[in-house]
Amino acid sequence: MSRDADGQASRSYPPLPERLPVDVFDSHCHLDVVETPVDEQLKSAKAAGVTRIVTIGCDLPSSRFAVDAAAEFDDVYAAVAIHPNETTGISDAVLNDVALLAAHPKVRAIGETGLDYYRDWAPKDDQHRAFRGHIEIAKRTGKALVIHDRDAHDDVLRVLAEEGAPETVVFHCYSGDARMAETCAEHGYLMSFAGNVTFKNAEPLRDALRVAPLDLLLVETDAPFLTPIPHRGKPNASYLIPHTVRAMAEVKGVDVAELCAAIAANGERAFGPW
Ligand SMILES: [Zn+2]
Ligand SMILES: [Zn+2]
Repeated sequence: MSRDADGQASRSYPPLPERLPVDVFDSHCHLDVVETPVDEQLKSAKAAGVTRIVTIGCDLPSSRFAVDAAAEFDDVYAAVAIHPNETTGISDAVLNDVALLAAHPKVRAIGETGLDYYRDWAPKDDQHRAFRGHIEIAKRTGKALVIHDRDAHDDVLRVLAEEGAPETVVFHCYSGDARMAETCAEHGYLMSFAGNVTFKNAEPLRDALRVAPLDLLLVETDAPFLTPIPHRGKPNASYLIPHTVRAMAEVKGVDVAELCAAIAANGERAFGPW
């Protein structure tokens, strides 16, 4: 689609970036929301050096989609949960359905769950009850916990401490400051950075990345959202991860290949074995 096309320019996909020197994976993608068939998303991702995708559930239908996609495609893995924004009036029966879906061997995480105080779509009580329920499922099934934390850092850390955190905790689209990154590092929580770490106004996020240890770093798209610079405003997909990884390497002052190798190893530890 050409730039002067009538209002469609923003929907056109950016070009394929240069392939990463070492293969990584996308720790958080909404394959069901990206407007491209899954096999095409996998193909373009692989051409960019992104060889696996963890697709995330936000409610029961999208969690079922995630399980089905993971069952169909070798390089897709699933996370299942009810997003904090979707927890209004959440029942034990719904949490039980999440737990049943989690039994599938290609479900490698419970997520995305957590707390969202930016949007008040669900009452805090319901969000907290759901978050605690998801923590319990992650511990019972031995799977990673993928946390959505929006303007709720203190409460997320507090609830994790109160419940006792699962062995593997991932803060998706990490949004805390450098001090919180130190706290996460003390607890061994993984921090997954998304395209917004490349944004001009994201210096506090880059400060957090500077102090986050290499062995706790992950990368994600949160596609179709949060498209990295230089394509901000265009739709996002897993093949655009190289832009984020290269920006992260620059902030960390490490080789791109070294960062990729660390991300790959951290991913296998958190969600593997593949
Ligand atoms: Zn989220
Ligand atoms: Zn998400």
